[in-house]
Amino acid sequence: VRDALLLQVFKRVVRACHAIDLASSRLLPSLRGEPGFELRGTCNMCGQCCETPTIQVPRVIFYLKTVRWLILTWQRNVNGFEYLSQDRRSRTFSFRCTHWDPETKRCDSYNSRPGMCRDYPHPLLYAPNPEFLPGCGHYAMREDAHDIEASLDELGLSPEKLDEVKRRFHVHR
Ligand code: SF4
Ligand code: SF4
Repeated sequence: VRDALLLQVFKRVVRACHAIDLASSRLLPSLRGEPGFELRGTCNMCGQCCETPTIQVPRVIFYLKTVRWLILTWQRNVNGFEYLSQDRRSRTFSFRCTHWDPETKRCDSYNSRPGMCRDYPHPLLYAPNPEFLPGCGHYAMREDAHDIEASLDELGLSPEKLDEVKRRFHVHR
């Protein structure tokens, strides 16, 4: 369902707050030289990241019923995310996005999509071993890929094994 004009304006304000929050939370890691990976490749518009958007939340949101209800209600009414399930281990909620059209694989409110949709897949770069969705046109490359690759080349591995190891170490696509 397309966002109404008023909701589009409201989401623009929320997006600005989200951008400030993101910039401040990533300032310290960036000063420490993290994440250590560069985002490479391009979005091929496969739409996989829209099929079941997931959000990881702090403990207070996951376990406190009222806060949890507020967040899920916000997601439903502002972002159009309908709650599907949760995962206790990673403290994530999974949703069905009401803006996503599985037939055309398009977002009906692309211009007013939430900050998290705009930011994806950058959060993956902060994982120790970034793993992208199958078919995603992006990949992570280590910032020190050149040095690691040179060391791996000296190991005398078979071409297939070398290729596998380079992928695993994110020095190769
Ligand atoms: S999964 Fe990757 S390639 Fe596919 S739409 Fe999302 S960001 Fe783009
Ligand atoms: S709002 Fe748009 S971009 Fe974000 S998950 Fe839904 S369909 Fe995808």
